[in-house]
Amino acid sequence: MVFHLPVDAVREDMWIGGRRHEACRGGRFETISPAHDVPVGSYPLASAEDVDHAVASARRAFDTGIWPHLSGKHRARVLQSVADAILSNRDELATLEVLESGKPITQARGEMETAADLWDYAATLARHDYGDSYNNLGTSKLAFVLREPAGVVGMITPWNFPLLIISQKLPFALAVGCTAVVKPSELTPATTIRLVELLHEAGVPEGVVNVVTGYGDPVGARLAEHPAVDVISFTGSTRVGKSIVAQAKGNLKRVSLELGGKNPHIVFADADLDAAIDPVVFGVYFNMGECCNSGSRLLVERSVAEEFTRRVVERSRAVRVGDPLKEDTKVGAVISDAHLKKIMSYVARGHDDGARLLLGGNRLASDCGRFVEPTVFDLVTPEMAIARDEIFGPVLSVIAFDSLDDAVRIANDTLYGLSAGAWTSNVETAFQVSRRVRAGTIWINCFMDGYAELPFGGYRESGLGRELGRFSTDEFAEIKTVQLHLGPRTHTWL
Ligand code: NAD
Repeated sequence: MVFHLPVDAVREDMWIGGRRHEACRGGRFETISPAHDVPVGSYPLASAEDVDHAVASARRAFDTGIWPHLSGKHRARVLQSVADAILSNRDELATLEVLESGKPITQARGEMETAADLWDYAATLARHDYGDSYNNLGTSKLAFVLREPAGVVGMITPWNFPLLIISQKLPFALAVGCTAVVKPSELTPATTIRLVELLHEAGVPEGVVNVVTGYGDPVGARLAEHPAVDVISFTGSTRVGKSIVAQAKGNLKRVSLELGGKNPHIVFADADLDAAIDPVVFGVYFNMGECCNSGSRLLVERSVAEEFTRRVVERSRAVRVGDPLKEDTKVGAVISDAHLKKIMSYVARGHDDGARLLLGGNRLASDCGRFVEPTVFDLVTPEMAIARDEIFGPVLSVIAFDSLDDAVRIANDTLYGLSAGAWTSNVETAFQVSRRVRAGTIWINCFMDGYAELPFGGYRESGLGRELGRFSTDEFAEIKTVQLHLGPRTHTWL
């Protein structure tokens, strides 16, 4: 089948020192549309030497360039121009994102708008980047605490929200004056490279942001271990996150990690069940379930479990799965054959472990691409693999619970701790869940809402550190204490 895609396959280069670069050893790799099975991008296949060049460029831009020394006002203007540029190029960026990730076009457009908002918000932080002063240390001392940019930041990102995730890191690092080397996922580099072009047009000086394209090993691994990198900011799987920590230990660089999740979505019997249905369905199938925040564990109070689950199944049947370029598609293609295999292996594990399949469980027949039916299992128990592991597909595991204590215990019975949702009309229950569930974000009577103002990150194996919100720039800042003695010396040591 021949597809006429809305844009031709892109042929891009890396960006190092403000210039386009091929890989120093030559060689390229292709990206393939997960929905259409055709090549959509061609990129240089970088090696560790390319990473070294990119880091040297970012190092020069930090150590001798102007970016760290510009005023907050100046940097804010540049970041705002990037926000505007993302909005003006929204449709092009969204199309590139769909072709490499398989996500629905309407969703991709929304992600571009959210990404622009992150650049806009980071601009406000650039003008509020200041320390403290201490005039209360006695007559002979005055002290101040300076915030300084931490240096060169290595950023490694995944394929599920390519432009959105780099926008959770890069503008905040730039706001405080850092420089960066970015390594996008090998499956989805297009929008990150396009973003770097927009950055240069917006006035980011050459060498401040560099991008290298290639595989996790060697490109990401070299970046994580590089002695001239000061901070590594990683979003991806918990497995690779652990290897990043090991790679980063050589120079004890600071590490921030945004990792996986197995997030509980808890429905109490006293909730507005009509209101909860749509967010539960959205929460699990959004982005084909390839979402760190996926509400993939549905915990329902036993007295309403059967009826609520029946309604979730009924609503799930209405979810449109198919060509992500169509305006009415809600669930597009899963990213790769390997990932499809992983999802289907969990469906098989669900059967084997004794869960009951209520819906789906199959790959959808299609001329091309790889699509999975919305899938619901009930009679799931907390020790089953489908209740414990991050499947990263459109698979919902329904677990019944008997009390608030029971719900909290099951919710916390996981290695992860990224996010959780709860539906209840009881204020006491809402506060108890908010306080007792160990996760970085708790949604009460809503699910997966996000705001630039609100910190995001995980407990336990879901991560280290926080992105977004007013503390986000702390990841990219050093704190320096300066003490001044005033007047004659008041005492001697000897
Ligand atoms: P992944 O860990 O396989 O890859 C992420 C990035 O790391 C890619 O750029 C990859 O090339 C690189 N990489 C792979 N091996 C590496 C190595 N040895 N050293 C350095 N870099 C290496 O993850 P993925 O499959 O791209 O993304 C899915 C995962 O990301 C899921 O677990 C999901 O939960 C997580 N995620 C988390 C968040 C969050 O904010 N918490 C957001 C999105 C995705």
